[in-house]
Amino acid sequence: MTLLDRTAANLRLVSDYWPAIAELRDPAVHAPRPSSVIDLRQRAELDYRARQERADRNADAPGAHRDAARAEVLDLMAQLVAGADEMCDEIAAALGIMPPAPPTTAFADPAPQLDFAARHLHQLDHAALRHVAGAADRMASEVTRALFLDPSGQTLRVVCPWCRGGLTGAFSLRVRLLPGHLAAIVCESDIPCEPPARKVGTWWGGRPAWPFEQWRWLARELYRADGRERMTA
Ligand SMILES: [Zn+2]
Repeated sequence: MTLLDRTAANLRLVSDYWPAIAELRDPAVHAPRPSSVIDLRQRAELDYRARQERADRNADAPGAHRDAARAEVLDLMAQLVAGADEMCDEIAAALGIMPPAPPTTAFADPAPQLDFAARHLHQLDHAALRHVAGAADRMASEVTRALFLDPSGQTLRVVCPWCRGGLTGAFSLRVRLLPGHLAAIVCESDIPCEPPARKVGTWWGGRPAWPFEQWRWLARELYRADGRERMTA
């Protein structure tokens, strides 16, 4: 894979997974969004108020864990949006062209910026491409980390909702490269893992497996299950 291909793939990954990232925010804090730009400090205040309200409603505060995750998600979203915008400015400056309009808010879908970057990658000289590639790499790994897809460990940091991690409750979902260069997430539980048929992508060696194109769906599915567990724990 060339640097250009990898960078384009990383930009696409960030763009594809953006809706999943945005969904990681707790719907309970969806305050009516003012049409003007909402800055990070205001957002933090909204979040803080929402957290307080929830804590007041339930002294046990089972949502504490989710709230922590949400603050991280907002940080990540803001980082991605700012990163995509900076990337466009760099590319535009390098090529002497107009950058796209900046994002409308700190949490606006950066698809237009990512798309602009991807469309102009092939025009960059090697030094500029390397720089953009580094930024795209970092963005993509932040996204995969946030969605539990840890490419370094190859193990998803979430308990499989269908077998509950087998006898030991271990993290059993792993990223595997299956024959034919098919990247898939496979549940390698020590007990037979049998999700309902409509929840399984495919089977590999008698284990349920989800090919790459289903990861976004799977991440959402896993995160929902994980959230439900934390709420009822
Ligand atoms: Zn399983």
